[in-house]
Amino acid sequence: MRAVVYQGSRKLSLEERPVPEPGGDEVLVEVSHCGICGSDLHLVLEEMGRPGSIGGHEWSGRIAAVGSRVQGWREGELVVGGPSPSCGECHACLAGRPSLCSGRGEAGMGRSEGAFADYVRVAADELVRVPDGLGPREAALAEPLAVALHAITRSAVVPGARALVTGAGPLGLLLIAALRARGVEAITASEPAPRRRERAGRVGATLLVEPDALVTPRMPFTIVDEPYDVAFECSGNPRAMESALAQLRRTGTLVIVGTGMRRPKLDHNRVLLNELVVTGAYCYDAGGFEDALTLLASRTLPTDALIEPGDVPLAGLEDALHGLAAGELAGKVMVVPKEAP
Ligand SMILES: [Zn+2]
Ligand SMILES: [Zn+2]
Repeated sequence: MRAVVYQGSRKLSLEERPVPEPGGDEVLVEVSHCGICGSDLHLVLEEMGRPGSIGGHEWSGRIAAVGSRVQGWREGELVVGGPSPSCGECHACLAGRPSLCSGRGEAGMGRSEGAFADYVRVAADELVRVPDGLGPREAALAEPLAVALHAITRSAVVPGARALVTGAGPLGLLLIAALRARGVEAITASEPAPRRRERAGRVGATLLVEPDALVTPRMPFTIVDEPYDVAFECSGNPRAMESALAQLRRTGTLVIVGTGMRRPKLDHNRVLLNELVVTGAYCYDAGGFEDALTLLASRTLPTDALIEPGDVPLAGLEDALHGLAAGELAGKVMVVPKEAP
């Protein structure tokens, strides 16, 4: 099979690899679509990846082979890659926060065998079935949408609240669309790239601003004129986090969703004086993939604007990574290994 392999030093190459043999508890999936995640950008462009590894975790595809001990799955079924199972017994699991299960591997390190390839091998207990009527292209949004839904859960936002989203890349756009679907109607998107700002409006943001429009008051007890109940930082840019915090009303909540290697400064006085909550959102709610697939199957999300119109072949992955990092591509880019005949 063909696979895009990380070479180290920000380089990718398209290689021939043997099709993986599924073990007894595994299945082999023929990849249909695989979205490019912000984490794939970090792995390659910030050199966090392990040389020899294959990226891509936001995939959909059809089961091509089933391991000898696998029950309940058969060849040809349309599936997406779901969360790795949690132990159900640790402190985080008992608190209903399975994404923080202590039995899981180190966060954010990625797998060595991803789906930027013709086939991906996966444990059968990590599969999630795609509901009838939902195609593989939209279904590949399940993972990042589950991330967006988890961020909404962490924010405890209620319908009627005012929300700020900083960074309207693929994840910010999904978050805006998911907020609308959850009944939040006043959504401001702050984004420097014009193409992404415009796209934020198409997926449901009601006010579009450039980052400089968000002014941080000089004194930490001063609240801006039109403050937000919740802010979602999706850019990973330290200045965006600093300015998002300053847009909150008293008791407001900032949810950190975007990752980045540069650290922001936290105005602890503003947090203290206004009893702000700063939290992170890592991965998914329990049942987050099922919720995401149900929402996608409801056909209420503007998937045309959430997914970039041009799908890219495996050989186009590297260019797409740079296009995303430069903010030239707004929506989720789908890699499609099977090129059109
Ligand atoms: Zn992802
Ligand atoms: Zn656990």
